[in-house]
Amino acid sequence: MVQAKIRLCVDQPLGPGQSVVLAEAQAHYLFGVMREGPGSRVLVFNGRDGEWLAEVAEAGKRKGTLRCLERTRVQDRPADLWLLFAPVKKVRTDFIVEKAVELGVARLLPVTTDYTNAERFRRDKAEAHVREAAEQCGAMALPSVAEPATLGKVLAAWDAGRQLLWADEAAAGAGSPRDVLAALAPGPSAILIGPEGGFSPAEREWLRALPFVTSVALGPRILRAETAAVALVAIWQAHLGDWTPA
Ligand code: SAM
Repeated sequence: MVQAKIRLCVDQPLGPGQSVVLAEAQAHYLFGVMREGPGSRVLVFNGRDGEWLAEVAEAGKRKGTLRCLERTRVQDRPADLWLLFAPVKKVRTDFIVEKAVELGVARLLPVTTDYTNAERFRRDKAEAHVREAAEQCGAMALPSVAEPATLGKVLAAWDAGRQLLWADEAAAGAGSPRDVLAALAPGPSAILIGPEGGFSPAEREWLRALPFVTSVALGPRILRAETAAVALVAIWQAHLGDWTPA
């Protein structure tokens, strides 16, 4: 892997000799904060065309242009894992988004449940967090972020071919992650994490009745929602995802 200390996520296409116009904030960061200038080398990626080594061609106070030199990594696809989560307090929701990117989740779906009590979920802000986290952790793919929707609406349109692992804090009847994951065939998966107040009795009843849902217990302690999200995504990645070499 080519070492360049700065890695930027851009929207534009990347290819040999391709010019990339920097966003104002990126130009400010690169030239104002990091004191880079013409000829400096950075890594760029856009979630589609792999990662490229690029050179600063023009540097201004609030603008700049890069030129792609060579591809350093081919584009990969994340494991097919979605994360459904009830937004919690802002800082904790930001944490869930950041860790989901680091852990290689492919799609983030904020869902409103009976006991969701969070402030408004801002999709644009979450997408900005996704990009920042991907820049920092070396991810090639950018997980998509869905508009918030009720859990009922999301599950009404669910493709039954996608197994949903429901992190169930009321562990009675829920399997241990080891047993659940061992019984699961590789394939499209999703994880559901509830809000601070957990799931309502009505939600529990219909979740239990859905054929594509499997409940999972994460040990004898009640975890915060963000801890549960990180724990179950990590367990899934270790069993079925890209932590296990093919
Ligand atoms: N207020 C709930 C209670 O006291 O039972 C706890 C909700 S917990 C803070 C938030 C979410 O994290 C839960 O809805 C569940 O999805 C997940 N979670 C937390 N601890 C868990 C555990 N031990 N097993 C499975 N899921 C857990």
